[in-house]
Amino acid sequence: MRPVASRVKGIQPSPTVRLGTLTKDLQAKGERVENLSIGEPDFPTPAHIVEAAKRALDDVPMTKYVSSMGLRDLREAIAAKSRQENGIPADPDHVIVAPTKHCLFLALTALVEAGDEVLMPDPGWVSYEPMTRLVGGRPVPVPAADETGFVMTPEAVAEAITPRTKVVLLNSPSNPAGAVFPEATFRGIADLCRDHDLYAISDEIYEKILYEGRHVSPASLDGMFERTVTVHGFSKTYAMTGWRLGWLVADKPLVREIVKVEEQTITCVPGFIQKAGVAALTGPTAPVEAMVAEFRARREVAMKELSNVPGLEIHRPSGAFYLFPRYDARIPSLDLSERLLKEGHVAVTAGSAFGPAGEGHLRISYAASRDSIRNGIRGIGEVLGKIR
Ligand code: PMP
Ligand code: GLU
Repeated sequence: MRPVASRVKGIQPSPTVRLGTLTKDLQAKGERVENLSIGEPDFPTPAHIVEAAKRALDDVPMTKYVSSMGLRDLREAIAAKSRQENGIPADPDHVIVAPTKHCLFLALTALVEAGDEVLMPDPGWVSYEPMTRLVGGRPVPVPAADETGFVMTPEAVAEAITPRTKVVLLNSPSNPAGAVFPEATFRGIADLCRDHDLYAISDEIYEKILYEGRHVSPASLDGMFERTVTVHGFSKTYAMTGWRLGWLVADKPLVREIVKVEEQTITCVPGFIQKAGVAALTGPTAPVEAMVAEFRARREVAMKELSNVPGLEIHRPSGAFYLFPRYDARIPSLDLSERLLKEGHVAVTAGSAFGPAGEGHLRISYAASRDSIRNGIRGIGEVLGKIR
């Protein structure tokens, strides 16, 4: 048999998705394992959102193809949110509805020519690098580690720019370290985008999981709307990971191109799922506030528990629901995470999954119960104690 395409052979499976699935399988078999691996809120989707999807199935029933751009009422709600909360001058024709991960892939597919360089934070979310490779681009890691509080500075971006640079990927609050980029950082990066004629893809999926600082959308800055694709989604804010629902906002010339890729790949997001999205964006905000308050409390639980583990350097995250401590034991993070699973009964993601600068770290997701966080971190302490 002839080999499959090298661009697919050349990428790895998603470490977060794989480990998350493995952990759930182990738990289903009755094994004791604390799941601090995948970034998935453990809360149920709020009832009014589920009800809206049920109604759309029962009453309409919404079981047919819908517009590839997305339902008009959902795009109106997204445009209104983008204008009011983010200062992005969006109307419904600037919005495309698709699963968040697919929005990133759609944007990269539309923007990246073979050989184009895509700048991305290192450490950064696991899928930026493989997605860039899949569309024929060249991923360029930009240092964004402990030294700068996991913020990708304009100076580091400037140093990485070459004549082949086409796109800068931004993510604040960030995965894996929960860093919130200051406004001055965004302004500095925006200046570079304008000076060097670069596009920005801004992944804002953790916008609402914010404890300190202010969320800034780069598309709201001078001259940035026409060169920025803002990507967002429902998974984290509304505990809707399994619904596969997100959106992107971009200027119309970009939307016209990007929507062709949506039409030629997934056609549309199911209508009844989109109705759930309308309920999420226009319904009561109390459930989200309660979840964020609980994440905030869990951050304290996790920080306190980690402070009992010797040899860890812990950066206090300002957003998202991850901790990314550096450990001093001499063991690769992948080997350590395997030992943690077997001996410590705790699943965490190896820091190396997030890029070269992630080595020597562990990513701990605290989107889990307080007991799970305490027990899991104790497991980490026990195993590290044996190794050190
Ligand atoms: N961006 C980041 C930074 C993420 O952590 C994730 C994981 N949920 C995604 C995008 C993809 O989100 P979704 O599961 O909604 O496709
Ligand atoms: N983004 C989450 C994480 O990093 C979910 C899994 C994934 O899509 O990577 O754990």
